[in-house]
Amino acid sequence: MPLDILIVGAGVCGPALATLLLRADPAAFRLTVVERCAALRTGGQQIDGIPVVRKMGLLDAVRNVVVHEKGMAFVDKHGNQKFQFGVNDTGKGQQGFTSEYEIMRGDLVRVLYDASLEASEDAKKQGGSGVTYEFGVSVDNISQKEDGDGGVDVTFSDGRQRHFDLVVGADGQGSRTRRQAWGDEQGRAAFRTLHSYAAYFTIPRDDKEDSDVAIIHHLSGRRMIAFRANGRPETQCYLICNEPAQAPLLRDATGYTHKSVDEQKQIWRELYADTDAWCRERVFDGLEKTEDFYAHEAGQVKLDSWSRGRVALLGDAGYCPSPVSGCGTTASLVGAYVLAGELARHRDDVAAALDGYDRVLRPFVDEVQSLPPGAPTVVTPQTDWGIWFLHSLGRFITTFRIDKLALSLMPADKGGIPLPEYPELKLVE
Ligand SMILES: Cc1cc2nc3c(=O)[nH]c(=O)nc-3n(C[C@H](O)[C@H](O)[C@H](O)COP(=O)(O)OP(=O)(O)OC[C@H]3O[C@@H](n4cnc5c(N)ncnc54)[C@H](O)[C@@H]3O)c2cc1C
Repeated sequence: MPLDILIVGAGVCGPALATLLLRADPAAFRLTVVERCAALRTGGQQIDGIPVVRKMGLLDAVRNVVVHEKGMAFVDKHGNQKFQFGVNDTGKGQQGFTSEYEIMRGDLVRVLYDASLEASEDAKKQGGSGVTYEFGVSVDNISQKEDGDGGVDVTFSDGRQRHFDLVVGADGQGSRTRRQAWGDEQGRAAFRTLHSYAAYFTIPRDDKEDSDVAIIHHLSGRRMIAFRANGRPETQCYLICNEPAQAPLLRDATGYTHKSVDEQKQIWRELYADTDAWCRERVFDGLEKTEDFYAHEAGQVKLDSWSRGRVALLGDAGYCPSPVSGCGTTASLVGAYVLAGELARHRDDVAAALDGYDRVLRPFVDEVQSLPPGAPTVVTPQTDWGIWFLHSLGRFITTFRIDKLALSLMPADKGGIPLPEYPELKLVE
């Protein structure tokens, strides 16, 4: 009998896990993915490096949609450049502050979803059950015995009931699966805010302003406006506010952003109402008209264990390191790789697979969750004087090429802890 697995969430790591499991053994797994949105959520902007994609043999698919960024220019309120971090041209070490394989979130979600459908077709040709996606469906209730023995009974939002051997919550940083399996209080407490709030949206490209260099403008009150164009038809605009005093404005009593998109846009408009920056009109106009708006409270998810009985958490749901780490997507993909590897290795012993998942992944997650001291507030000064100091420091660093020196000393592959090998996954790089 195949292992019957429910994956909750068709974001980045849900489809990645499905692909890896079906490729490992087409007959061993019957997979169902439920996604609460009516269609694949392809919103979002540039996301971080993705070493697992290489292991999954999807590098060519990703290369076609990879984003090329040549540096970051820091500008004053008139749009005049104060300093620029560029690409490392020493020929050694890491090539820039942007990682090698940055990609738009929507492109990556599509690549992974398509790969899972392809793996599913192959599995079915070999007599397997493949993967079934159900959009517009979520989980209302899960119940299992204390030790998880006997699997999980699931009630879906449309009233159907089904039994699964394993439920994997891949439903993002606010994971409902986490709250259902760990209990509401513990599930919420696992999210530790960094008091950093970000809104990401696309605006029309302006060829006179936009290039392959990201533009960053600081405002007092720990705020930033950033533009990233990188040869794409639309430009990404980021608003970032690292001021804890703004928390009551941005988060609701539950600690998560549950406001409507229009309400969220209004909050961001108010937050930036005092700006007289050269780009004011572009930002406000773009914010008004964009249909690709995503905002969240950045934080980390910390748990002592990533499974409860036969419910496991994957990606942001279990160990979100926050965008501040620059490794949110990497962590979720490495997690999918390790969970798939352990399930393929211990297919008749789910408890052993979940133990292995925790043991093998823990050092990697500890590493990506450790943030530099003072992050993220230290890069967003409170006062105009602080911004002047930041610009002066940046000019000093770039004049003496200390940025290039630092980059040339960093390993070219920011992989950190090497990925464990799972021959059971039958991956050909
Ligand atoms: C629309 C969107 C835009 C994003 N934009 C950015 C960005 O611009 N920059 C950045 O750094 N990070 C962004 N992120 C977060 C980023 O994708 C993740 O931090 C990272 O890639 C880890 O992915 P994940 O698969 O763990 O979670 P996610 O990519 O967040 O995927 C979670 C999935 O679960 C679904 N889901 C949630 N709750 C339920 C439920 N109860 N039942 C069923 N399905 C559910 C969601 O709709 C989503 O498809 C965005 C996430 C989303 C959902």
